Parts: sequence; structure tokens; C-alpha cells
Amino acid sequence: MAASTPTLPAGAPPAFHLLAKPTGATCNLDCAYCFFLSKEMLYPGSRFRMADELLEEYIRQLIEGHRVPEVAVAWQGGEPTLMGIDFFERSIAYVEKYRKPGMQVMYSIQTNGTLIDDAWAAFFKRHDFLVGISIDGPQAMHDAYRVDKGGQPTFDKVMRGLRVLQAHGVEYNTLTTLHHANADHPVEVYRFLRDECASNFIQFIPIIERVPETAIDLVDTPVVAAEPGQVSTAPWSSWRDRPLYKQEGALVTDRSLRPEQYGDFLNGVFDEWVRRDVGRVYVQMFDVALANWAGEPPGLCVHSKTCGLALAIEHNGDLYACDHFVEPDYRLGNILESPMIELVASPQQVKFGQDKFDTLPNFCRACDVRFACHGGCPKDRFLTTPDGEPGLNYLCAGFKRFFHHIDEPMRIMAGLLRQQRAPAEIMRWAHERDRRQAAAFAAAGRNDPCPCGSGKKFKHCHGR
Ligand code: SF4
Ligand code: SF4
Repeated sequence: MAASTPTLPAGAPPAFHLLAKPTGATCNLDCAYCFFLSKEMLYPGSRFRMADELLEEYIRQLIEGHRVPEVAVAWQGGEPTLMGIDFFERSIAYVEKYRKPGMQVMYSIQTNGTLIDDAWAAFFKRHDFLVGISIDGPQAMHDAYRVDKGGQPTFDKVMRGLRVLQAHGVEYNTLTTLHHANADHPVEVYRFLRDECASNFIQFIPIIERVPETAIDLVDTPVVAAEPGQVSTAPWSSWRDRPLYKQEGALVTDRSLRPEQYGDFLNGVFDEWVRRDVGRVYVQMFDVALANWAGEPPGLCVHSKTCGLALAIEHNGDLYACDHFVEPDYRLGNILESPMIELVASPQQVKFGQDKFDTLPNFCRACDVRFACHGGCPKDRFLTTPDGEPGLNYLCAGFKRFFHHIDEPMRIMAGLLRQQRAPAEIMRWAHERDRRQAAAFAAAGRNDPCPCGSGKKFKHCHGR
């Protein structure tokens, strides 16, 4: 039974973002780190396919819930292409049925790319889809964890899908997860995405796999303490059967990105980008940072003051607070029973978004880069601060390393924006700084302080 159209509830946002998972967690791959696979356990016995009745209801309510002229219809998984082209053709027919006069609908899909062929690419082109391709870098780094159900590598299939998209002129971007196998190679990963994939919109997502102490015997890889000082190992068993749909515990798998690695990775990419690619290649994290330095809305929930307007809908119509909180405690309701907009505007969801700020530890409130960081995503806030307060982000050390590293160029770019000049002018500054530093290195004595500002003697730093 479809939920009836509501009058808009008080405080309903004019727009929100919803990631739809028509296959639930079902995927044709078996990426070692995928947190969605265990979510199949939320729906035992399900076929994990969005029914046609729900599809129509979803599109209708999504459009009716928006009071802006642009609506995003975003598909994700699992692997959404498992639904087949007909499913998406029907979704477009429903959009046409309910679209309001003048409303623009933007389609996007996040896919592992392995099933993309000419028919898919022609469909994406026909309907102006933006296609997000998940790829973790050059072959060895990608294949380290992104394997199929038989454990076979997937790099060649992904690249084949990408080439088909390119041949059809489909708009695409790349999403790269950061983990043990690629995080120490920022320049190699970035150049691969820029040059081999010709991606000019690049997203990086940290892999942080938490493991409860009670479940370490179910994990298929060693685990390490999230906070330094303690290391434990676990026997191997079936990771896919783990009862881990709740995010708990102070251990992380050894596949997980370490905080400092995250900072060093972003710094490495930034140093390449700021010298040659500003204005040409869009790296999401850098754009978000620039917006925060410029005092503009950052456009990414993770580094915004509050969140709660990026929700997820499962294959059966269950609506969750966020794609990263598809857990029983964060289920808001089902859109076949309660109108979507009432769930989006519900006190539970408003509190979820406000908690991002309200639960910030004092350590964050006093932090010099809080304006850029905002404590990161609440799902990763499972460390204690140096003064013993809970709720510090696991990635804090990496955030600090990165935000301090980019402070000067970000100030300059924000200044350029204020003068209505192009941030790309920063590249001249970067080259001039390089030239001055090279001259200072050439003039430095072995026992002089290193001109890079590390505080070390030149002979122990760049003069080594
Ligand atoms: S919980 Fe994290 S990912 Fe979800 S909306 Fe909030 S900041 Fe974004
Ligand atoms: S850098 Fe660390 S202390 Fe500062 S706001 Fe971010 S998480 Fe909090």
C-alpha cells in the first residue's frame, strides 16, 4: 500500500539527497573490504530486487518531496547494474510521469564497471547519466582487494567498461577507496586516475573497517588496535558471514587506512595537483577544503558542521539516516508506510544531523582546523581524545596533517576567489616557491637548519 502524498511537514528541507540501492547489498564482486556485503544479513531471505510498485512510489515521493527545480536520482549498491537496463528505463518513465513543469532531473549511478557494455553505455548517454566508476588505482593496487566471487582480479573488466563509456562519450568520474594496498602511493594513484582513466573528477574514500572485540575470530584478516599501543591478530574465518552490520569496536582490520597515511596520501596528491592541475582536475577533497577556507558551503557532509540530508533507501523501501548507517537503530521507516518527506524531516533524522556538531568533543571545538574539518564523519568517531573524552575521529591525525599542509595555498586560493580571480593562479605561486626552495637548498650548509622548515639539520633532511 503506497503512502499518501503528505502536506509538507514543518521544517521539511527544500532538497535532500537519497542514494537508492535497488539490489540492496547484492553485488557481482566480493571486494574484501566491502562493508555492504554483511548488510545482506539485515534482510534474511530477501531476493534483493526493488519491485516495480516500489520503484514508482520512490520516484513519485522523491519528486514530490523537493521544492527546488533540480532533483538528483542516484543509484548505488551493491551493484545496481545487476537490475538490468529495463529497470532503469522504467525509472525514467516514472520520472517523466511525475516530473513537475520546469524540473530538471539529474541521473547518476555508482558502479564497479564490470558489466558495462555498449548497450549500457548507449543508455547512459541517452539519458545523460553521470557514471561513477569504482577503481582503486593501477592494476596491482586495484586487484589487491577488488576481486570477483571466485577471487579473480577485476581490473581488466573495469578498464574495459571505462573504455566503453569513453567511446560513447558518457560523462563519468572515479571513486577510489584508500587502504593498505594503495595509500602509500599517492602520486602513482593520482597520475593513473588522471592520465590512464582520464578522470577529471576524483573522489577518495578512506576504508576503515571496525571490528568488535567479540568478533575478531570471524574476520578474515588480522586486526590492529585503532589507537596505538596494542596489536592483536585474529584467526581467519568467513568474513562474509560476519554479524557485523553494526559498527562497533576499537579494532580495525589491517586492510584499513591508518590516519597518518591518509594525511600523507592527500598531501602527496595535493602537491602534484597544485603545481599543474588546478582548474583542470577536480579532486573532491580539495574543492571541499577550498570552500571551507573561503567560508562557502563545502558541499560534502563529512566536512560540514551538520549533516543528515544524505539518506539511503533500501531495495524494499526502508529509509535510513545515511548510506553509512544502514543499521537497525538508524532505520527511519518505510516509504510504503510513511511518506518519505515526513521521514526525512522527522525529529529522529534532524537529531541525527545535528548530533554531528552537538557531540563534538572539546578537543575538536578547540582545534585550529575545525573550520575545515568539523570532526569528520560521525561513523569514524571512535577514539578518545588525549584528555579522555570519547568521540574523536579515527582519522584526526591525518586530517590535521593535511589541513596544516594546505593552509598557505588554500588561503591564497580563497583570496583569489574573493578578488574574483581564478584559483588556478596558485600554480604560479607553487612554481615560484619551488624555485626559491631549490635555490635555498643549493646554498645551505650541511649543519644549517633545513630550508624546508622541518626544524632538522639540512644534512638530516633534504641534504641527506
Ligand atoms: S554520517 Fe557521515 S556520511 Fe552520513 S551524512 Fe553524516 S557526515 Fe555524511
Ligand atoms: S582535526 Fe581532529 S581535532 Fe581537529 S576538528 Fe578534526 S577531528 Fe577534531
